[in-house]
Amino acid sequence: MPRANRRRRDDAPLNVDRALGGAVRRETYAGLEWFVRHVTGAGASREYLCPGCQQAIAMGTPHVVAWPAEGVGGLGDRRHWHSPCWSARERRHPGGAYR
Ligand SMILES: [Zn+2]
Repeated sequence: MPRANRRRRDDAPLNVDRALGGAVRRETYAGLEWFVRHVTGAGASREYLCPGCQQAIAMGTPHVVAWPAEGVGGLGDRRHWHSPCWSARERRHPGGAYR
């Protein structure tokens, strides 16, 4: 009897890429590799808390989304950063948003 349903692997990098619908780069932070995507102001449809400065990222503000490229998490662990905070990430210490 054939199996009708195939389970989708939503944690595969390719699918993550597709889900976010943009160019994704790999960058390093805190000794880890992260997928990073730059969000346009039009794509920022809600307010986020930046882990770099613990300040809100207002709706409509271009910013950066980053999530671990390896290990636990994936899309569920993504964080929204102000672009300048991400650029200065090695000089900042996340304020409890990370494990
Ligand atoms: Zn910030």
